[in-house]
Amino acid sequence: MTVRPPRRAIKELQAYDGAIPSSDLVMAANESPFTLPEPLLARLESGMRDFAYRCYPDPLATDLRKKLAEQNGVAPENILLGNGGDELLLDTLLAWGGPGRSVLVFPPTFSMYGIYAHTLETQVVKIPRDSGSFALDVDAAAARLSQGDVDLCFVDTPNNPSGTLTREEDIVRLLEASDALIFVDEAYFEFSGVTVLPLLERFDNLVILRTFSKAFSLAGLRLGYALARPEVIATLTKVRMPYSVNAFSQWAGELVVEERSAFEPALRLIRSERERLYSALDALGGVQVWPSQANYLLFRVAEAHEVWRRLLDDDGIYVRDFSSAPGLTDCLRVTVGSPEQNGRFLQALADRMGSGTLLSAHDKRVPDPILSAKEAAHE
Ligand SMILES: *Cc1c(COP(=O)(O)O)cnc(C)c1O
Repeated sequence: MTVRPPRRAIKELQAYDGAIPSSDLVMAANESPFTLPEPLLARLESGMRDFAYRCYPDPLATDLRKKLAEQNGVAPENILLGNGGDELLLDTLLAWGGPGRSVLVFPPTFSMYGIYAHTLETQVVKIPRDSGSFALDVDAAAARLSQGDVDLCFVDTPNNPSGTLTREEDIVRLLEASDALIFVDEAYFEFSGVTVLPLLERFDNLVILRTFSKAFSLAGLRLGYALARPEVIATLTKVRMPYSVNAFSQWAGELVVEERSAFEPALRLIRSERERLYSALDALGGVQVWPSQANYLLFRVAEAHEVWRRLLDDDGIYVRDFSSAPGLTDCLRVTVGSPEQNGRFLQALADRMGSGTLLSAHDKRVPDPILSAKEAAHE
């Protein structure tokens, strides 16, 4: 027996492959290199036994919503929690996208915007970023929006994978160009310190996305939130799954908000390590690196895919390979790790880029018994 095909748009999609290859050191997913701070771990541990596992979660995460509202200086009605920021991206497309509707994106940028748009048969309009600086072409974007047929527009700032910020005045121009919903993805806000949240008072068509996955070491629990006008939040609430945010994640999220200051040392360290990593990459001959306001750095190197493979196979370090992605020829992205991890990555990269071509450098290497055993295990 056969099964009848799904919608054509689904048939053409590829399943997202987020599988992490076996490696000692993952610097590819923009996760925090650090676990939760001790006071938070202690509170989680002491509450585990009496936790209300058997009950359905509060659909709107009322307690967490209140705490986040207070922290951000907005009302609870301005906030919606999601199963990771990802769910809120999908919810936004469910409500504002769909057949016959259009979404504007600025590639190279976060791939999920396009993936969810395609899933929901939404037309994707692209205005590429500057190939050198990755700056957004605001004039072209505002002109395109003012035609009036774009329903939704995604602005990622700092942009993943380039790490570059979009200026507030440019976002204002997008907000003013039409009544399209302007979705400002601030997944890396805690590293940039820059937000357009004050614009929420002036604009009905603004949504801001935040996540607990990056700065707050909670990628595994899936928690993100949107900030918008109550009307926009109410619309998103109509399309979401009622119990998408599980009770344990809600509780952990509350603890994160309450213990926010305990994350500061790690955040400061990641920011200073980012600058150290940037300077070191910049000083390395043959590497072009872009300044970043996030917790990752995009860099370009000759034979990038080969460098990526050597880092993985020979050094056990997994970075993100964008070398064959449009607009990112020969680019790799490394997540800022702990000082030790960053040191290990820099050493490995310098070694891989050592004398001669990569291939000959590799072939000339004197076999090291431990490394060879590790290589064998990878094959
Ligand atoms: C990581 C990320 C998100 C959200 O991730 P979640 O883990 O689903 O919260 C959203 N946008 C960008 C650009 C990201 O890099």
